[in-house]
Amino acid sequence: MHLRVVLRIPGGDTLTRDTLDGRWADPWGVPDESTPVDTWALPGLIDAHAHLARATTGFGPGDVVETGVRAKRALEAGVGVILDKGWLDLTVVRMMEQVPADERPDVEAAGVILAVEDGYWPGLGRDVGAGRITEEVSRAARDGRGWVKLIGDWPRKGIGPVVNFSEAELTQAVAVARANGARLAVHTMAREVPAMAVEAGADSIEHGLFLSDRDLVALGERGGSWVPTVIQIEKVIEQLGERSSGGRLLTEGLVNVAANLELAVEAGVHVLTGTDLAIRTHEVALEAVRLWEMGMAPSAVVDAVSWSGYRATGRAAAFEVGEHANAVLFGEDPSLDPRVLAHPSRVIRMGRLVA
Ligand SMILES: [Zn+2]
Repeated sequence: MHLRVVLRIPGGDTLTRDTLDGRWADPWGVPDESTPVDTWALPGLIDAHAHLARATTGFGPGDVVETGVRAKRALEAGVGVILDKGWLDLTVVRMMEQVPADERPDVEAAGVILAVEDGYWPGLGRDVGAGRITEEVSRAARDGRGWVKLIGDWPRKGIGPVVNFSEAELTQAVAVARANGARLAVHTMAREVPAMAVEAGADSIEHGLFLSDRDLVALGERGGSWVPTVIQIEKVIEQLGERSSGGRLLTEGLVNVAANLELAVEAGVHVLTGTDLAIRTHEVALEAVRLWEMGMAPSAVVDAVSWSGYRATGRAAAFEVGEHANAVLFGEDPSLDPRVLAHPSRVIRMGRLVA
């Protein structure tokens, strides 16, 4: 299929590109189809904290076919990149092997989530026994596709949040992940772990309710990522009850998140949208809207749900001639009103109209 696309980039240029063998080309010949001139274009949306293998009900082994269906649905909603932050099995990796790359978003995936005994949802993580960081992180890096996910803290009944790994263990985990070609993501909702994870060199902080100014500056200096997953936090607060000790802690954390969003962007942190367990990957625009409602500037929101994630993962995203012809198009400018992100007019994947 030969498309001609006028790409109006929010806050940037307008480019005219044709497709040729699935890649962007300069205009040539007579196209089969042209998109309307008045379209706004992003390279794609990003869900930087997905669990694509999760079924609607409960935690159990993933289903490769259903996971592929979810990936296709995400693509149709304009999602171009999924960072899957692990599951209890390797369903997402199997899906990546079975569903061709032009029928789904790009996927990077952690393998089995790493935690300690009693330190995560029962059965969802793999217990890293004492002294086994090197062994388990290298295994997870080899099993996954680009990421290792580690649960930094988790509440214990009657005690509150407990730190799962020491800073020395986190530092070792980062080194082992890197040596095996993977990035390290650390889940943290409690107070102590963000500073430890940043100091240890973690690539992505998941939730990170208690990141300090100092942490954000250090994370930004090395181009690290922060995926606050606001809708997920709000869901957990609802489940725990606002007045429970956990609910109060997370509510305090959310105030912190709202205060930190702008500072993080200024510090160079890649603040990214993530769905986690609260909503599905094809709904990631809802998290972008939530960040906007929490006070993030619309242009920064567009960055969080697109460009910033592309930069953070080393993707070319400038609609360059010769690159894969990927784009999500909108009838209005999402950098003026992020609600537009939930309603793409067209989605192009490797030169093919998929929606
Ligand atoms: Zn998660």
